[in-house]
Amino acid sequence: MSKERVAIIGSGNWGSAIARQAGKNVLKHGNVFEERVPIWVYEEEFEGQKLTEIINTTHINKKYLPDVELPSNVVAVPDLVGAVKGATALIFVMPHQFFPKILEGLKGHVDHGIKAISLIKGVEVHGNDIRIFADVIESQLGISCSALSGANIASEVAIDRFSETTIGYRKKEDGEMWKKLFETPSFKVHLIDDVAGVSLCGALKNIVAVAAGIVDGLGYGNNSKAAIMRIGLLEMKHFCQEFFKDVKDGTFLAESAGVADVITSCMGGRNFKVASAFVTQKKPFDVLEQEMLNGQKLQGIHTAKEIHHFLKSHGRLGAYPLFDKVYHICWDGMPVDQLTEGL
Ligand code: NAD
Ligand code: 13P
Repeated sequence: MSKERVAIIGSGNWGSAIARQAGKNVLKHGNVFEERVPIWVYEEEFEGQKLTEIINTTHINKKYLPDVELPSNVVAVPDLVGAVKGATALIFVMPHQFFPKILEGLKGHVDHGIKAISLIKGVEVHGNDIRIFADVIESQLGISCSALSGANIASEVAIDRFSETTIGYRKKEDGEMWKKLFETPSFKVHLIDDVAGVSLCGALKNIVAVAAGIVDGLGYGNNSKAAIMRIGLLEMKHFCQEFFKDVKDGTFLAESAGVADVITSCMGGRNFKVASAFVTQKKPFDVLEQEMLNGQKLQGIHTAKEIHHFLKSHGRLGAYPLFDKVYHICWDGMPVDQLTEGL
């Protein structure tokens, strides 16, 4: 059997951390995978040098994952089509706001019948239609797409702190292949048959993390934060079961992609930290994103807006008060201390 040729699309904070896992594991499982792992890098200058050159000479993504060495078989490629040429196993890992343009660039350049996995935490909304990225990838590129999501703060995974993740697979054998590519003794992968549940948890928990950041900024303490996590998890579950069929209860309550990601994101994720600063520093989110994240991107505020428009078009805003409050605070000038009113 011919070996899988892995390519990674996206090289931010999580993209780089996952490239480290994949780069090591292709060497470990040399009977399954080709050694070279191209990673598409959105080219930019960093400290006067091209980021791809920095990565390929120092084996460190100094802008998005400083101080962590990547295996030398991970090769930065600035050309998107060149990066995916010949690939049989594609990893999508970019901030969701950039996905549509990247997808356009890939059309006609990937072979049908190859496999993909989406690590993107977000959804695509058009009017009253909502899609997870795994479905968009499948329908637009004609390739089978799994999903990976979990309690996975990239900087912790990148230094081998014990973590778990969840892969939702389409076919069990695809799930097993992805598990071989990502799992290490300190990064445990659990396979489940719920691509939609895994994908939606990853997207929706970012709204909950913004809410947790707001109560943190307000100085409300741990009871309030725990309440936000509980209410948020329930809204996530109701949303998935109202708008997607076959999403499983266990994905929310027993998986890293569900409850565990809500907890870690509400304790120390980027959405949490920036939302807390939004309250204490009283600056707009885009300013804080620039000041605090050094080029990394927030997802939760955008997902809050997308979910708001979707729910509005279905006349269902009233059923999701926490999601709705986060939207109004982030985009509509609602005072932050109104977050918990009426919950
Ligand atoms: P990031 O937040 O570090 O974003 C920066 C990336 O965006 C860089 O690769 C940059 O080159 C790219 N970029 C900037 N402008 C661009 C443009 N105009 N077009 C295309 N790309 C552009 O990215 P990340 O942390 O790797 O996140 C990717 C996905 O993984 C997100 O959906 C995120 O929610 C998810 N995720 C992140 C973490 C984490 O801890 N960072 C953990 C799990 C999942
Ligand atoms: P943030 O984007 O809020 O940092 O969340 C990272 C994450 O998804 C952890 O699982």
